[in-house]
Amino acid sequence: MYHAGFMSNPILIDPLKFAREARQLSGKLLVSSLDGRVQADLASSGGELEYTLLGFRDELHRLSLRLTLSVALELRCQRCLETLSYPLRTDAVITLFTQQEKLEQACELDEDLDAILAEPELDVKALIEDEIIMGLPLAPKHDVCANEALALAKADKPNPFAVLAALKKSKTE
Ligand SMILES: [Zn+2]
Repeated sequence: MYHAGFMSNPILIDPLKFAREARQLSGKLLVSSLDGRVQADLASSGGELEYTLLGFRDELHRLSLRLTLSVALELRCQRCLETLSYPLRTDAVITLFTQQEKLEQACELDEDLDAILAEPELDVKALIEDEIIMGLPLAPKHDVCANEALALAKADKPNPFAVLAALKKSKTE
C-alpha cells in the first residue's frame, strides 16, 4: 500500500487503471487543506482526516472504487452556536463508467448507485470533499448543549431546604 502522507495538492489517479490493477492508496489530509465548500460548514478547520481508496471489480465485474474516510470535524451547533465535535466516518463505493448512456441505465436500475464517468484523471481529494459534504448533517446539534447541561445539573442538586426539612422530619418521628 502506498502512503501518500500529508498532501494539500490534488491527488490524481487514473481511476480505471487504479480499479483494474486493484490498487490501494491511503493517506492523511489536514482539514484546513479541504476546499471552501467544506470550510463553510466548519467552526474551525483544525484536525486531520484519514482516507483509504481501494480499486476493485464489483459482483457485476464493473470497475469500482471504495473510499473510506474518518475525520473529527468541528461544526457549529445550530442550537447554542458553540463548537460541536462531529466524528464522521464514511464508506462509499463509486462505480466507474466510460459511457454516459451505460451510467444512466445503471442508475435507473439501481437508484442507490454512486456512479461517475471515468475521466483519465480523477482528483481523489475532490472525491473526499464530496463525501464529507454528503455526510454532514444539515443542522448539527449537541445531544445536550452545555447551557442545558448546566441547567440540568443545577436542577439535579437536592435543594438544601428540602434536605433540612427531611432531617427535621426524621428527628421528630
Ligand atoms: Zn449546542
